[in-house]
Amino acid sequence: MKTLYIIIISIIVTYSPLAAQDYWQQEVDYKINVALNDSLHTLDADIEIVYTNNSPDELSFIYFHLWPNAYKTETTALCEQMLMQGNTDLYMATEEERGNISEIDFKGDNKTLKWEFDPENIDIAKVFLNKPLKSGDKITITTPFKVKIPSSDFSRLGHSKQSYQITQWYPKPAVYDAKGWHQMPYLNTGEFYSEYGTYDVAITLPKNYILGATGDMVNGEKENQWLDSISEQTKLIESFDDDDLDFPASSKETKTLVFHQEKVHDFAWFADKRYHVLREEIELENGHKVLMQAMFTNQEADIWMQSLKYLEQATRFYSDFVGNYPYNHVTAVQGALSAGAGMEYPNITIIGISGDKYILEETIMHEVGHNWFYGLLGFNEREHPWMDEGINSFVQNMYMAKYHSDLAISELYFGSNTDIMRLNEIDEMYINYISNRVIASYNLDQACGLHSAKYTEANYGVSVYQKTSMVMDYLQLYLGKEEFSRIFKGFYEQWKYKHPQPDDFVAYFEKESGKDLSWFIDGLINSKDRVDYKISSVDTQGDSTIVTIKNKGKIYAPVYINAVDDGGVSITKKWVDGFDGKKQIALPKGEYHNIKINSGYSFMDYNPGNNHYQKDKLLPKSKKLKFKFITTLPKADEQYIYYTPVLGWNNYNKFMLGFAIFNHSLMEKKWEYELMPLYSFKQQTINGSFGLHRNLYFHKGVQRLSIGVVGKKYEYNTYNGDGKDLSYLKISPEITAYFAGKLFDGGSSGFSPPFYMSSIGGKQDYMYDYTYLDRSQQGGAIAHQMTPTDGGFYLPSAIGRSRNMILAANLRTPIPFINVVKLYGNLGYTFGNKYGRYDNKAMAEAGVLLTFFNRTFEVYFPLLWTQNFQDVMDLRPDYKYSDNIRFTLRMDLMDPFKYKKEFNL
Ligand SMILES: [Zn+2]
Repeated sequence: MKTLYIIIISIIVTYSPLAAQDYWQQEVDYKINVALNDSLHTLDADIEIVYTNNSPDELSFIYFHLWPNAYKTETTALCEQMLMQGNTDLYMATEEERGNISEIDFKGDNKTLKWEFDPENIDIAKVFLNKPLKSGDKITITTPFKVKIPSSDFSRLGHSKQSYQITQWYPKPAVYDAKGWHQMPYLNTGEFYSEYGTYDVAITLPKNYILGATGDMVNGEKENQWLDSISEQTKLIESFDDDDLDFPASSKETKTLVFHQEKVHDFAWFADKRYHVLREEIELENGHKVLMQAMFTNQEADIWMQSLKYLEQATRFYSDFVGNYPYNHVTAVQGALSAGAGMEYPNITIIGISGDKYILEETIMHEVGHNWFYGLLGFNEREHPWMDEGINSFVQNMYMAKYHSDLAISELYFGSNTDIMRLNEIDEMYINYISNRVIASYNLDQACGLHSAKYTEANYGVSVYQKTSMVMDYLQLYLGKEEFSRIFKGFYEQWKYKHPQPDDFVAYFEKESGKDLSWFIDGLINSKDRVDYKISSVDTQGDSTIVTIKNKGKIYAPVYINAVDDGGVSITKKWVDGFDGKKQIALPKGEYHNIKINSGYSFMDYNPGNNHYQKDKLLPKSKKLKFKFITTLPKADEQYIYYTPVLGWNNYNKFMLGFAIFNHSLMEKKWEYELMPLYSFKQQTINGSFGLHRNLYFHKGVQRLSIGVVGKKYEYNTYNGDGKDLSYLKISPEITAYFAGKLFDGGSSGFSPPFYMSSIGGKQDYMYDYTYLDRSQQGGAIAHQMTPTDGGFYLPSAIGRSRNMILAANLRTPIPFINVVKLYGNLGYTFGNKYGRYDNKAMAEAGVLLTFFNRTFEVYFPLLWTQNFQDVMDLRPDYKYSDNIRFTLRMDLMDPFKYKKEFNL
């Protein structure tokens, strides 16, 4: 036991975060001269970097980021990430639209340095020093450089005609910290980590550009007077011409503006000749004066006229909540941006098109807030995105609660206060909560504390931003607002202008609060385990009420008990530290009516239905049963049966009218049912379908398994000589397994039909899995309907069948500017079996397709096909080209019971 004890102690010592006095960080100071060429869209520049090695190590090389090269080829990490996210813009870009950095010639203390590109990433360089840089020494590294500015259609560095967004644009050393080098390629998803230092940047550009940049203008009296005069004019404008977005001609004369800023880790600038300007100065509580600036074009100018108010509210709110803003200006500029709604840089944020005054306000305040959570606290955003985006979203929620507590989400997002689906009752916190509950109900959620590269697109928003903000609120509720505020501010003061890691954050909070916060960091941040407490029983013993609580989850998070009287007034409020198993808690004497635990969104209780106990009810733990139209946002103490009228049509039953009752909602349930009877007026029969499913969830391998039984009954007609209508009834078991977001359908029986290279028509749909307008396909246009399956070829053909395996590649490429027309090409290979029933065969087809309503309806026109298809066509004497035209109507995309499976996770 003793040895174990010693080992535990030594592990704690080894992993304890660095004590503040052991902390070190590198310093990187920059002098940059840059000139904008606004006809070629290039930057000509030279840079001088003074690199101070404060680490205890000798450095023989320095990693540099050359991030404009992210836009250079189709193989950069940025381009590959965009492709993975389904965005082909950079991949398909013309040479003119791409960007790069060139003319690099590194010198160290005036002597040429050897350098090479990182073998994997052309936007990272390894620069070898002529002699090792000792701990405490400095080196001056210089290089000229030229940037070809890419189109703003791809990411953050770019230009849209003569509007310039100059970000991540200069050669910049990667961070070297206690964990080593942090060189990283530029990405859209997954942000930054940079060294602090001083920037002196001289920017030369035509005189009539309005320029917003990091830092204070040096000797900028004349320029400031000019900007002030534009601001005075802007304030007098009563209406703006949205359509007037023309660029005035550039002045022949140029100007050079010089900016200086200490204690920041990046420098960005934005230039546009069309900007209106608003400027005003505010004084913070500590007496520090801050210049606020907004720069925007005629586009959305009417809502931007309020932007100084948003800048002021945000700057004051964050100064109060976190710590005073130390820099001299806070600026928001409007500009083209193709990664997110807004983007933060020190002192200055760029905001894209908002569409709405609330969205504009929220975007400006969120990006201004990043001055604290990114700028002043220099987190490693690439590795720990929860620290900047999550903590910033938490403060954003506090801001929205302060300024817009009465603003319903329906008004925020839909422009009107509607009571449909309870949208008028919910706030921002509820949106965070429900997004997490929905993803968690499918077991597709991810922990908040992962590396940015580990997230699915949906989870990057839901887990990193939304879940972290709730976890932070949980911590705030637990510690109490005042205590939380004291610690949060203390953390900021100790770590500002530094690189705090997650361990530093938790260690500071644990030390100051004296509490064990492993539930916070190990449980809620670093795992996807759930908080799930339930009230087992409530008993009265003498004067006191004993509440027995059971922890059904794996996280020992603190529990909040709120016991209220029959008027809903709270009698006892109490925190109980987290525990495993069961615990009895004695409440003082009182007339309790309803006892609730962890009730509130921030607790994220996985099963809120068992968190209440109504003492004087016959079934104190029961939920109220409600009938609702379609669906509603659920309440913890209510249970729902949903209904909706349904209209159906097919060629034999004609119009069918009926209704559906079901319990599906956005959140998946363990048991789900649906019943949809439909009356056919032509056949005078009852048709329809039903389903019953049990959903199971697992931690490893299969994420979720759905076992159920489904049934369908419809009439149809087949050409069997007597012309009689037949009816079919299909009842089948159904097992569906989901692996890490991918769908694997186990099929509904042991029957194994051959694989088809061509997509199937209604006749081949032996399993009656799809909805066909004319199942027997006896002729007419509706007989050309098909369902893309297996090989995904569009030509109707019997060739290309296999009981073994087929391989197929289905390509479709967009035609620029036309969304509904695409070119397609399909390649396939079938493998025969040993009985020679099916051949080994290669085949291909290509053509044009029209696509509508998010791929729900598509028409295919084959233009080219391989000879083996032609051979089959030649066998048919009555063959016409139009036989090859087929269409898909993906009714399943419209099926109310299948829509939720189309989540792009
Ligand atoms: Zn953000």
